[in-house]
Amino acid sequence: MTIINCTLPFGIIRDINNYSKIINEILKYDITFNILKFSTDSSGVNLLLDVPEDKIKTITESLKKNDVIVNKKGRVIVLDSCIDCGACISLCPTEALYFNEDFKLEFAYEKCIGCLLCLNSCPRYAIEEM
Ligand code: SF4
Ligand code: SF4
Repeated sequence: MTIINCTLPFGIIRDINNYSKIINEILKYDITFNILKFSTDSSGVNLLLDVPEDKIKTITESLKKNDVIVNKKGRVIVLDSCIDCGACISLCPTEALYFNEDFKLEFAYEKCIGCLLCLNSCPRYAIEEM
């Protein structure tokens, strides 16, 4: 499974039927997926979808066809205020966050898929979305 980070702008989800239409559009391809996170902000409804790797193209195209914004950004940076507590590490599905041999936190940018699961885990607010 892999993660799609997407935003449903408020303009396209005026009521629950609009939301159902988007989900049903994906389900018609007989795809099982998990909604890992559901949140809202001024841009709309943000979803983290855990989807089968081999269906990612189909789902991405389906979302885009319905004017859903598939966020390619959403990667993170780790600030100097990190105290290497390790709280974020277990949340990262791709091992982009890990300890080096000195138990200092390392961030492998190329492994980060922008799922943002780590964002709220940090007691020092040392992880920020780019
Ligand atoms: S956003 Fe955070 S949890 Fe998600 S892949 Fe990147 S480093 Fe890992
Ligand atoms: S949770 Fe925050 S302080 Fe702890 S290791 Fe991760 S980035 Fe550093």
